[in-house]
Amino acid sequence: MKLTIVEYPDKRLREKSCEVKDFDDSLHELLDAMNPLMISTNGIGLAAIQVGHPIRALILNIPDEEGEQPPENLLEIINPVMTHKSGETTYQEGCLSVPQFYEDIKRYENIIINYQDRYGNTKTLEANGLLAIAIQHEMDHLEGILFIDKLSYARRKKFEKEYKKMQKERKNSK
Ligand SMILES: [Zn+2]
Repeated sequence: MKLTIVEYPDKRLREKSCEVKDFDDSLHELLDAMNPLMISTNGIGLAAIQVGHPIRALILNIPDEEGEQPPENLLEIINPVMTHKSGETTYQEGCLSVPQFYEDIKRYENIIINYQDRYGNTKTLEANGLLAIAIQHEMDHLEGILFIDKLSYARRKKFEKEYKKMQKERKNSK
């Protein structure tokens, strides 16, 4: 399965993703193709909608102390629901769908989610720090929300200008 990253301002990123009901081969194939794409593009998280599949599935692999992302640290999260959120933290976020742009974003420090794994088994995960931040970022994708939506009005305007310029440059250099 060949996947490519959907980039802002592509309208697909605004779609609300649908609940996964079939935990079948097609889901597994998609997850199996998302992982190498995330790793090769230096991502720590990737939602299915970012590769054009509007289903409530996302993967995460938070780098360890050596900056490695070993396969055993891969998290596959299907149909997540947040059951607890508390505290506050700020982190400089980026997004594979909004290349080359990073900005401080406020998130909950601690969260608990219920979700399903690729076989449909129900799980609970308590997260804090970067994992909690990344989960919130990816869960926003399922609602069609991007981290740039959380910028102040002035910062967002500046971003749109910079991003358009950057996209033009990238197109010209191709
Ligand atoms: Zn993202």
